[in-house]
Amino acid sequence: MLSQTLNRASRSTRARRAVESFPVTRKVVDRFVPGETTADAVEASAALIATGRRVTIDVLGEDVLDLGGARATRDAYEAGCADGADVSLKLSALGQALPDGTTIATDHAAEICDAAAGLGCTVTLDMEDHTTVDSTLAIGAQLRASYPWIGNVLQTNLRRTPADIAALDGSGARIRLVKGAYREPASVALQRKADVDRAYEAAIDALMASDCHPMIATHDPAMLDRAVAQARATGRGDDRWEAQMLYGVRPDLEQRMVDDGHTMRVYLPFGSDWYGYFMRRLAERPANVAFFLRALAHR
Ligand SMILES: Cc1cc2nc3c(=O)[nH]c(=O)nc-3n(C[C@H](O)[C@H](O)[C@H](O)COP(=O)(O)OP(=O)(O)OC[C@H]3O[C@@H](n4cnc5c(N)ncnc54)[C@H](O)[C@@H]3O)c2cc1C
Repeated sequence: MLSQTLNRASRSTRARRAVESFPVTRKVVDRFVPGETTADAVEASAALIATGRRVTIDVLGEDVLDLGGARATRDAYEAGCADGADVSLKLSALGQALPDGTTIATDHAAEICDAAAGLGCTVTLDMEDHTTVDSTLAIGAQLRASYPWIGNVLQTNLRRTPADIAALDGSGARIRLVKGAYREPASVALQRKADVDRAYEAAIDALMASDCHPMIATHDPAMLDRAVAQARATGRGDDRWEAQMLYGVRPDLEQRMVDDGHTMRVYLPFGSDWYGYFMRRLAERPANVAFFLRALAHR
C-alpha cells in the first residue's frame, strides 16, 4: 500500500514539489545519490574503485519531452564517461517518448556509445516501465551490431522475461537481471513478491546457462548465493559474470562480494534530477521512509 503510494508519487509533479522543498531532503538523498555534479560523480567513483569495486554511472533524469533536454542528457553522459566504467542510460531521458522517439533515442545512445568506446567504457540500457520493453530491447539489438558490449536489463516481475532470456541466448549480450522497480498491471507482471523472487531464481539459472554475460543486480543475499553457486556449477569464472548493487543500499554486502573475489559493480547515480530515482528507493523499502521521517522530525 505504502509502496504503491510512493510509486505513484514518483510520477506526481505536486508530490515532487513538496518533497524537493523539505529542507532535510538533500541530506537523506545523499545516502542514495552522492552528488549533483560530474565532479561529485568522479570523486565517488574513485572512492569505490579504490576499494576494488567497479561502477556504472547514471546521469539522473527521465521522461525528457523535448529535444534540447535529450541533447543535454547526452552531453552530460559524454562528460561523465571514464575509463573502465560502465554508463547506465535511460532511453526516456534521451527522447524515447518524443514523436519519432525510437530514432532520436537510438541516435543519442549511439553518440554516447561512440564516446564510451573511445574511453574503454561500456554502456547498459536501463529498463523502464513495461510499455518501453520492446523498444528498448530492439534498440539494444540494433546498437549491439556496432557495439557488442552494450547491455540490456530484464525485470523478473514481467511475465515475458523467460522468453526474452531465451531470445537473447546466442547474442552474447551483457544482461542485467533485476526484480523490477515499476508498479505494473497483473496482465503483464507477477504481483506477489514470492513469485517475483522465484522468477528471479529461475532467471539466474537460465542466464548462467546461456552465452550471455549475467549482471546479477540485487541486494538480496539469497539471490547472490544462488548466482555464486550457479556460476560455479556452470564453470563460469568471475570475469564472466558480475554482481551489481545500487549505491548506498548494502555497502556491507558489496564488500563481502569483493572480499570473496567476485566482480562487484555499484550503480552510481548523480545529478539534480534525483526525485524519481529517490522515490523508487523509498518505495522498495518501508524502513527507508521511516529513515526519511526520522530525519524530518529531528531537523
Ligand atoms: C544495479 C542495479 C540496477 C538496476 N536497474 C534497474 C532497471 O534498469 N530497471 C528497473 O526496473 N529496476 C532496476 N533496479 C531496481 C530493481 O528492479 C529492484 O527494484 C531493486 O534492486 C530492489 O530489489 P532487490 O533485488 O534488491 O530485492 P528485494 O527483495 O527488494 O530486497 C532485498 C533486500 O535488499 C535490501 N534493499 C532492497 N532495496 C532497498 C532499498 N531501496 N533500500 C534499502 N535496502 C534495500 C533490503 O535489505 C531487502 O531486504 C536496479 C537495481 C540494481 C541493483
